[in-house]
Amino acid sequence: MNARRPRVVIVGAGFAGLACARALRRVPVDVTLVERTNYHLFQPLLYQVASGLLDPSQIAAPVRSVLRRTHNCDVLMAEVTSVDLQERRVHTAARDLDYDFLVVAAGSATDYFGDASLRARAIGLKDLDDALALRSRLLRNFERAAVCTDAAQRKRLLTFVVVGGGPTGVEFAGAVAELINHVLPKDYREVDFAEVRVMLCEAGDRLLPTFAPRLSRSAQRNLERKKVDVRLGTALREVTTDGVVMPDGESVPADMVVWTAGVRAVPLLGEGAPQVRHGRVEVTPSLHLASHPEVFVLGDMAALDVEGQPLPMLAPVAIQGGEHTARVIAARLRGREDAPFRYRDKGTMATVGRGAAVAQIGPLHINGLIGWLIWLFIHLLYLVGFRSRLIALWTWGWNYFFYDRPVRLITLPPPGG
Ligand SMILES: Cc1cc2nc3c(=O)[nH]c(=O)nc-3n(C[C@H](O)[C@H](O)[C@H](O)COP(=O)(O)OP(=O)(O)OC[C@H]3O[C@@H](n4cnc5c(N)ncnc54)[C@H](O)[C@@H]3O)c2cc1C
Repeated sequence: MNARRPRVVIVGAGFAGLACARALRRVPVDVTLVERTNYHLFQPLLYQVASGLLDPSQIAAPVRSVLRRTHNCDVLMAEVTSVDLQERRVHTAARDLDYDFLVVAAGSATDYFGDASLRARAIGLKDLDDALALRSRLLRNFERAAVCTDAAQRKRLLTFVVVGGGPTGVEFAGAVAELINHVLPKDYREVDFAEVRVMLCEAGDRLLPTFAPRLSRSAQRNLERKKVDVRLGTALREVTTDGVVMPDGESVPADMVVWTAGVRAVPLLGEGAPQVRHGRVEVTPSLHLASHPEVFVLGDMAALDVEGQPLPMLAPVAIQGGEHTARVIAARLRGREDAPFRYRDKGTMATVGRGAAVAQIGPLHINGLIGWLIWLFIHLLYLVGFRSRLIALWTWGWNYFFYDRPVRLITLPPPGG
């Protein structure tokens, strides 16, 4: 009789979970991957869906089709509700799953700092629902402004405030500014574009704080050339139903406020696991819980300091963590010691619109068109699925030459409507 193979349960089909499932393909284990949606989402390109450039199907791939050839992995579409670390059981909305090894890679969510009214008034940019909500709100505001006769109300509809000057805020502000400068004037002849305003508010003293100061300045110059009103040292006092309140008390009426000022790890392990900054779970250098060596925590959920610096919440950290965990599981089955996780930093980058990006790769600091070409190459490499890569490349090429945004569709009803 065959001995039962060890059972691995992976929570989340993001970068970490998917990389782990794929890397376990030839390891003698049976894997169940639990994901609450039925797709893997390429979050770095969400802002392009939100600004009408890409279609959701170009940045999301069905998990079952991605893992079609990973024969030792089953997929369960279900929301994990809790984990019983003592009983080694995962509770999901569909059914419970017992495990020998558990890989928790549920990622992070927009951090509204526990402020329910902020959550109700601002829109995050963390999943497809957010991106589609932003696209619909943005375009609907132009439709409403086109028929609005009240000047103050029109100004409010046409003021877009982005909060947070990290890569997500910078990329979204740049993409929206280009949409407004080059595409929408052709559609909305009734709108006076002198009334349109994109404001980017950052609490710190520069944009892209994790990049070299020279690249931060380059990104800021680029945005300002696109007429983005960049406000540094601006920690908003409040987001109200009317708009935002600046640190000096000035009220800026704005119908659409985009919140990109922080994320927080998904609180899946509850009290059973020590949490540190941003709700991330403390793990050992081999990425498992100190109290439960059979439970690995990866990607955005995991807190680990390497050479005194916390591992950043980035896709390569998640992917490498997933691959590392598969190697550790395979080694344990052969009775070997755990190896520590070594993160190979391949650099970070952010686009600032068509043909412009900043990239920091080791000692190299690159901006402008070369930075954008590197960005394009890397994103094509990591985008899941040949079809998505081909269509994205075509769309970026088309946009580069013609400044077009083909997906200018309002697909959601107005808020509260
Ligand atoms: C707008 C944006 C832009 C970004 N740009 C970049 C970039 O340019 N470069 C870069 O390196 N990184 C970027 N990042 C960060 C990067 O996307 C994350 O670091 C990465 O996705 C983390 O991978 P992960 O596997 O930990 O989590 P995720 O990729 O978030 O995956 C988590 C998965 O778990 C699922 N899940 C969550 N809760 C449950 C549950 N209870 N039950 C079942 N399933 C669940 C989710 O649906 C999701 O599929 C960006 C992020 C955002 C939001």
